[in-house]
This record gives sequence, C-alpha cells and structure tokens, in this order.
Amino acid sequence: MNYRHAYHAGNPADVIKHAVLAFVIDYLLKKEAPIRVIDTHAGLGRYDLTSDAAERTGEWVEGIGRLWGRDLPEPLEALVGSYMDSVARLNPDGRLRFYPGSPDIARLMTRPVDGMTFCELHPEDGDDLARLYARDRRIKVIGIDGWLAPKAFLPPKEKRGLVLIDPPFEQPGEFDRLVEALDNGYRRWAGGVFLLWYPVKDAAAVKRFHRAIAELAIPKCLTIETTWRAVDGERLSGAGLVTVNAPYTLAEVCRAAARPLWDVLEMPNGRLDLFGGEDRA
Ligand code: SAM
Repeated sequence: MNYRHAYHAGNPADVIKHAVLAFVIDYLLKKEAPIRVIDTHAGLGRYDLTSDAAERTGEWVEGIGRLWGRDLPEPLEALVGSYMDSVARLNPDGRLRFYPGSPDIARLMTRPVDGMTFCELHPEDGDDLARLYARDRRIKVIGIDGWLAPKAFLPPKEKRGLVLIDPPFEQPGEFDRLVEALDNGYRRWAGGVFLLWYPVKDAAAVKRFHRAIAELAIPKCLTIETTWRAVDGERLSGAGLVTVNAPYTLAEVCRAAARPLWDVLEMPNGRLDLFGGEDRA
C-alpha cells in the first residue's frame, strides 16, 4: 500500500469530489431521521497543508488554494457552499492550513443522532484516523478492507445515508471492484446514496467502466465526469463520480457551476459532463 492521500489532499479532484459529497450530505440532513455515512476508503480524515507531503507536491494550491478566500459566484456557491463551510470551520482564523477529507466533512456536517463508519486499511493512516475521532462516539473507525464494507455494513440500521467508495487506484482491477461493490451495495440497500470515485487517465478503461455501470441498469444513476486536460494515459487528466440516488437538483447545480468552477480553478480547458447510467453504454 504505497498510496497516501496526504500528497493529494485538496487538489482539483478532491475539490469536486468533496463538494458533491457535502451537497449530498446537506440534502440527506433535510429530514430529521438519522443518517449513516460509510466511507470505505477513508484516508487520514484531516490534512495539514503545511506538512512535508502536502508541500512536496503542492497539489492543493491548484485546488482548494484557488477557491479559498474568494467571493464565489452564486452558481458555484450553490455547489461548493457546504464544502467551503467545512473547510472554513477547520480554519477559523481565516488562514488556510487544515483540509477536511471525506470523513471530516461528514463529521463536521452531521448531527448528534447520525452515525459514521470509516474503513482505512493502511496501518498508520488507520491509527491516525482512529486517534482523531477517538472521542466522537458517533464514529466507528475500522481497519478492514473497504471492499468488504458493502457486504459487511449494508443496509445500516439508520435506513438513510450514503456510501462513498473512493479507492486509491494503485492496483489492477479497481474499476471492476467498483462495479462489483456498487452491485453488491445496491442489492442490499436500494434506497442508499452511493458515490463512487474514479480517475480519468486511461480512456479505454473509463469507457469499459461506463459500460459496466450501465449494465447494472440502476435507476437514478448520474455520472459527473470532469476533465481538465487531454487524456494522455499518463497523468491524472480528470476524475468522475458515479452517483446513485443523489438529489435530483445535483445535475442542474453541476451544470450551472461548471463554467465558474473552471474560471476559479484557472483551467480554461475544463469540461464537466453529465450522463445517466445508460447514456454511454
Ligand atoms: N476518501 C478520502 C477522502 O476523500 O478524503 C480519500 C481516500 S484515498 C483516495 C484512498 C485511501 O484508501 C487511502 O488512505 C488508502 O490507504 C486506503 N486504502 C487502500 N486500500 C484499501 C482497502 N482495501 N480498504 C480500505 N482502505 C484502503
């Protein structure tokens, strides 16, 4: 396990993933009933942008670094507002130093009645995550293989909530495992919200993945795919999120936010494509 998210936290892919995550949590919180957030590949939970790892790559500078401290236009604010609130809560003095990973966004946004389950297999990152949340009784940090989570934890007793599946893509077969995890998860919990993250690097692999997702024929499946440079098979050129049971407003909000987002990120070639499960089969 070589992947450490500390090198990448707050980069453009994180911004889009975390903005959508916060948007979905916001929607789930509109009802009083408790929710559960399950993060199958949780990472460290919170990142220090002055750490050696963050400074070595500087990836956050071109992501959260571009949004922080700016007046954002309304259509972009509609997508990133709750996410930016979470970042602001970690940096109350107005200087950007701490960045919330997906677990911290869930922790900051949820209520005393809600529950969270975070899986992290890396021994050191898992220990740090467990230490970070040791005093929060709503949170279970578990050092198991996150791919087992759909079978192990679904459906949760809360009946409402979401599953984020965000693997590191450092091993072959992770696209197939994503499809299998969604298939298993959705069979157990058809009412849950699912968010699956994938990298856009290898165009052929992404195309096969779209087809496999479409073959699951899951209703209310929306894919949000962003690219910010030509796909060359080498570098991360974009990232996608397959969503299931996301709020119906999400597509329109993403569509309206796309142009101002690329402007703020200073990525003039940025694209945001939306398609349903069947559209790209
Ligand atoms: N979800 C996090 C966020 O958005 O802040 C980032 C997660 S990062 C992309 C992937 C994480 O999965 C890494 O911390 C890695 O150590 C962990 N990991 C890798 N294989 C795993 C597995 N089989 N089960 C659980 N965690 C795993």
